[in-house]
Amino acid sequence: MGKALIIGAGGVAGVAIHKCCQNSEAFDAICIASRTKSKCDAFKEKLGGGKTKITTAEVDANDVAALTRLIEREAPDVVLNLALPYQDLSIMDACLATKTSYVDTANYEPEDTAKFEYKWQWAYRARFEEAGITALLGSGFDPGVTGVFSAYALKHQFDEIHYIDILDCNAGDHGYPFATNFNPEINIREISARGSYWENGGWVETEPMEIKRVYDFPEIGRKDMYLLHHEELESLAKNIPGIRRIRFFMTFGESYLTHLKCLEDVGMTSIEPIEFEGRKIVPLQFLKAVLPDPASLGPRTKGKTNIGCIFRGVKDGKEKTYYLYNVCDHEACYKEVGSQAVSYTTGVPAMIGAMLVMNGTWKKPGVHNIEEFDPDPFMAALNRWGLPWKESFSPELVD
Ligand code: NDP
Repeated sequence: MGKALIIGAGGVAGVAIHKCCQNSEAFDAICIASRTKSKCDAFKEKLGGGKTKITTAEVDANDVAALTRLIEREAPDVVLNLALPYQDLSIMDACLATKTSYVDTANYEPEDTAKFEYKWQWAYRARFEEAGITALLGSGFDPGVTGVFSAYALKHQFDEIHYIDILDCNAGDHGYPFATNFNPEINIREISARGSYWENGGWVETEPMEIKRVYDFPEIGRKDMYLLHHEELESLAKNIPGIRRIRFFMTFGESYLTHLKCLEDVGMTSIEPIEFEGRKIVPLQFLKAVLPDPASLGPRTKGKTNIGCIFRGVKDGKEKTYYLYNVCDHEACYKEVGSQAVSYTTGVPAMIGAMLVMNGTWKKPGVHNIEEFDPDPFMAALNRWGLPWKESFSPELVD
């Protein structure tokens, strides 16, 4: 039994909050703290009648002193950061100040540079070790479950893994001409950046969306997918010994890409501030304000997601292929927790990571990526808490 402080009250936090309340054996209390307190109170109103005691608070997660005061007052066993990647470091600072363990789902990204890397958070390693507290980085789906899948494949299926292809397919249809499934600013920054993959000990860079493949996804069918840089490539390249290549592909429909190209061409995806009617605005932030709120997509989205990893390597001297994946249904997620599958597939692993750190199953002072922990309890919890996984020993390969 323990208490989590959840920071953020958006799409992903909403699912994690529902899941903590379903899992009251582990979470006897949660505090929901975010910039807009009314969103926290709405969750308390909806879910506060159950066994998990809920408190709420307003906090600016960029303000280390305010966060420190909040953590001291609420005394959680773990802080679950579900705000935006910009807040990772200030929340880690407050965890250090209060000697409280930390879990997040996305690596730090400075607000003024669209470049996410682990170096800023890895720089906290020694300080977390000295404080005797655990930081679990990237406990969403990708990063998150993809790292757990990799650790599981290495532990149970291979002597050495040589190739990993991470395939992220969202075949959901929300009926809007253009909308993003999670925070539009973070999403568009990610996909308008140059692509890259890890091969033979170094990064190979590509133009945005330069590499396209078509894949026949189980339970979904054939979809176009594009190679992107993705944050787990960086940690898996370090943590999977003998790895030769890791790539990440995400599916996008033609209409989505045409809209995005047009928005890019007119400058709407830029993060450079411009002068507008006497004040500075960031075009991408303005675009976020006019696009549908990802939270509003839940009731409209139909179809499934399929996210997984195809591994190739050797076992007992023989070449082997292995595919681990999860299929999630948007409408079933909405029925259960009031959110679509993209938030669901992130919020469930966030709850599981927080639970394992909180109850000491994953206690490892320092700053660690998810694949550095024993995958077995996490894999069992995925089956129990709504993201059952499937395996295949003869998947179609990506060339
Ligand atoms: P949302 O935009 O829906 O929610 C973000 C929440 O953080 C909002 O409640 C927002 O408050 C709050 N917030 C933002 N800034 C601050 C601040 N300074 N202080 C306090 N609260 C703040 O995002 P999502 O729920 O879609 O995403 C949450 C996180 O999950 C992101 O980091 C995202 O990158 C990550 N993610 C990870 C995935 C994975 O698989 N690993 C997949 C999808 C997302 P307000 O309500 O006032 O705006």
